[in-house]
Amino acid sequence: MGSHTPLRCPICDGELTHTAIRDIGGVTADLIWQVHAGECPVHGWFQAEVISRPPREIFPVTRPFGAARRMVVDGEELFSFSTVWNDVPALIKFSKVDPLDPQYWRVRRQAR
Ligand SMILES: [Zn+2]
Repeated sequence: MGSHTPLRCPICDGELTHTAIRDIGGVTADLIWQVHAGECPVHGWFQAEVISRPPREIFPVTRPFGAARRMVVDGEELFSFSTVWNDVPALIKFSKVDPLDPQYWRVRRQAR
């Protein structure tokens, strides 16, 4: 059961259950446009949007494809989790990458 997605829990890096992928489809055939969602048994629902590139952010949501929710992590309010895709060199960013490559879906470690 569930769809195969590189999305993991941005807090505990655990595997998500009840994963789902909504294919929005593109204007052109080579555009990949999907929304991925999944539930961490401890931390709730998360989702990320893929538009031909790995997601820049993973959002906590109230339910799959639902509204964004606020989370408090270590006393800090968070509305989204930035992925390491933000830190990838431009050379890679503008080359043809697999948007579903899990290495780009990792969450940036929060600066302390
Ligand atoms: Zn979790």
